[in-house]
Amino acid sequence: MATKPRILTGDTPTHTGLHLGHFVGSLENRLKLQDSYDCYFLIANVHAFTTLADKPADIRANTVGIVKDWLAVGLDPDRSTFVLQSEIPAIAELTFLFAMLIPFKKVMRNPTIKTELATKFGMELGELFGSEGEGKSREGPSFGFPMYAVGQCADILAFRPELVPVGEDQEAHIEMCRDVALKFNQMYCGVNNRVPAEEHAKAGGVFPIPQAKVGRIARLVGLDGVQKMSKSLGNAIFLYDSAKDVQKKINKITTGRQSPTEPGDANNILMQYVDAFVARERAEELKRRYAAGDNIGDGHVKAELGEAINALLEPMRVRRAKLDGPEGDAIVMDVIRRGVKKGNLVAEETLRLAKEGMGLGFGSRRFTAD
Ligand code: ATP
Ligand code: MG
Repeated sequence: MATKPRILTGDTPTHTGLHLGHFVGSLENRLKLQDSYDCYFLIANVHAFTTLADKPADIRANTVGIVKDWLAVGLDPDRSTFVLQSEIPAIAELTFLFAMLIPFKKVMRNPTIKTELATKFGMELGELFGSEGEGKSREGPSFGFPMYAVGQCADILAFRPELVPVGEDQEAHIEMCRDVALKFNQMYCGVNNRVPAEEHAKAGGVFPIPQAKVGRIARLVGLDGVQKMSKSLGNAIFLYDSAKDVQKKINKITTGRQSPTEPGDANNILMQYVDAFVARERAEELKRRYAAGDNIGDGHVKAELGEAINALLEPMRVRRAKLDGPEGDAIVMDVIRRGVKKGNLVAEETLRLAKEGMGLGFGSRRFTAD
């Protein structure tokens, strides 16, 4: 049987569940590609400590919650492998090794790190590197915070995937991951620097150079209309929100538009959601009439939008409800156990190959399937 190309992607357990941004940015592609690829889905629970280090019990509960959401959405542990980052030691080791290959400045200038520094810690890079006097006032994020960008290269490359389905906010990370893989292959596997990225594995590189696959909606805006929808920013519609809560959240959206006959902005937050969740033809009609002020009020759009989103979420809610309680927890634990076992086989093989390439192949550590 021909082996399928691999996918690696995942989520950080910074909240009890996933939101609509995850769905359109990444989950939809995971569902679509689940049969044609050998899929590894990672819960980045160590990375959750970048913002929740003082709340380990939350991270644990969130981990269970996210796996339940995956199951509710339709990710299938019999076809795909669910892996838990903290149980894959090769990831931690590769993080350390890759950290030597990525320029410090590049990590700190990574646009995703910059944005997250601002949105999650209210800080600018300047303050982080300010003179001691300025720096004293606020401690800022841990060293592990920028380090997570390096760790994410290891999360991905540990599984030697070809494709990484992510939202747009992750593109900078994937770019860094590609750079590390290229550098590693050139430095330690003798791959000539004229060999194109897609031929690295064939040319003897340990790592295929992975490609980002951005979702249908690259960046779903949050309910604030400004930031991306995010677990950590309080601007999300969660997959398990009740139908009533979904409608309530949508009703609170403000556009500043006064009347149904006022020409509206066809790119405002409401219309972006219409684009993402209302069936294509109807969405086009709504946008056209909204922009023309053709008697389509915000209230009407909100009701139609709520209906469309709830129709999408209802089957997920039903499946999620079945996983409530200790029986559901036991299912999650079993899925994680199975995934970790399979995931470690792949990641240990990667680590072995990487260490051999780096002249670290002393062979004193052996792992087997059981
Ligand atoms: P946090 O606020 O803790 O960073 P998050 O909401 O950004 O959480 P992640 O776990 O960091 O969620 O991201 C998981 C995946 O979902 C990534 O591939 C990310 O690009 C994608 N994603 C997250 N938010 C959005 C969004 N608003 N639109 C499109 N894709 C998104
Ligand atoms: Mg994020």
